[in-house]
Amino acid sequence: MAINEQIKALAEKYRDYTATNLSKMVKTKSYSSKEEDVCRLIVELCKEAGFDDVRIDGLGSVIGRVGFGKKAIAFDAHIDTVEVGNLKNWNFDPFSGDIKDGKVWGRGSSDQKGGAASMITAGRILKELGYAGDYSVYFTFTVMEEDCDGMCWKYLIEEEKFKPDLVVSTEPTTCRIYRGHRGRMEIRIILRGISCHGSAPERGVSAAYKAARAALAIEKLNNDLQPDDDNFLGKGTITVSQMDVKGPSQCAVADYAMIYCDRRLTWGEDDKLAIAQVKKYVSEATGDKEEDIIVEMPNYEKLGWTKKDYHQELYFPTWKIPEDHYLVQAAVADYKDLYAKDPVVDKWTFSTNCVATTGRHKIPAIGFGPGDESQAHAPNEINRVEDLVICSGFYALLPYKLDEMNK
Ligand SMILES: [Zn+2]
Repeated sequence: MAINEQIKALAEKYRDYTATNLSKMVKTKSYSSKEEDVCRLIVELCKEAGFDDVRIDGLGSVIGRVGFGKKAIAFDAHIDTVEVGNLKNWNFDPFSGDIKDGKVWGRGSSDQKGGAASMITAGRILKELGYAGDYSVYFTFTVMEEDCDGMCWKYLIEEEKFKPDLVVSTEPTTCRIYRGHRGRMEIRIILRGISCHGSAPERGVSAAYKAARAALAIEKLNNDLQPDDDNFLGKGTITVSQMDVKGPSQCAVADYAMIYCDRRLTWGEDDKLAIAQVKKYVSEATGDKEEDIIVEMPNYEKLGWTKKDYHQELYFPTWKIPEDHYLVQAAVADYKDLYAKDPVVDKWTFSTNCVATTGRHKIPAIGFGPGDESQAHAPNEINRVEDLVICSGFYALLPYKLDEMNK
């Protein structure tokens, strides 16, 4: 039997196994920075699947490997989840992990433990077929993505010197091939006023009114942002997400204002550009000189479950790869070989770990994952078992397609 037929049959044979592994992971709560239990579970599942190696890195991510090739491809799933929010919005227990009606039910089923379950099955299939091609196939189950996307990979690449040749993110794509997404950053603006007694506000300078004008300037900046040249990623955005105003008392003119912004970055936009734009617009709106306005990128300060002292600024660079890149072409061939139709090639709306692997470190990457992006962070989250099967086959075949292309 041809390799694509063998892989398709094995992915089907392991349908229930894959769904059950996802169910186990959903049942094991793993909010960001509290992933230890699910990491220990995944180590066991990788061993059971026959992986050649499995370890836990310094930040707490699980790194599994199948094969001994001289090139490295890494399939990545973050295994932390966001919290459940208001339980009243859920029609079922978010941690039930039920498998029924062709779906796995619960928090993290689509975002994105589904990808993790399909990866484990892919590793099992590769072992069973005795894959001995040019790639070492890594499966990374990474931590803290929901809080600080890419930090797990920045750590792996910069501190543990693990830099694969190719990356496949298994975040939900509805089994489409994605080749980019906008970057993002967080921006804090600090404005100063001069306080005075609230009974005579004309003696002071109000930081509150400056903040109001600055917020409207951010709205104007958002309207002025332009799309990228080919409009693949679309236009960047900026919005005010938090504001805070303070003074010496509730009977005083405010002398301090903080404005917090979420900025999405399209192709060609980076941190320096975004900060210069904010300074210019806020300066024009408030009359303050640009050098007197503090516009900064805060740091991510939380510690992970291993308590490793590791941080980064809240900047997540934009990435994309061309449609004619060999990784995209191998993925298209892979999909066609398994499912006899053309895949959709597109992009994510949200952000993934590829901000680090590809935005920062320029490793070519694609996305292909089970479940829908719209399920992410929403109540009543589910994933389709059929998607899990499609993805486990797709992941297992990809190293063979790359080998065929001599890439
Ligand atoms: Zn996610």
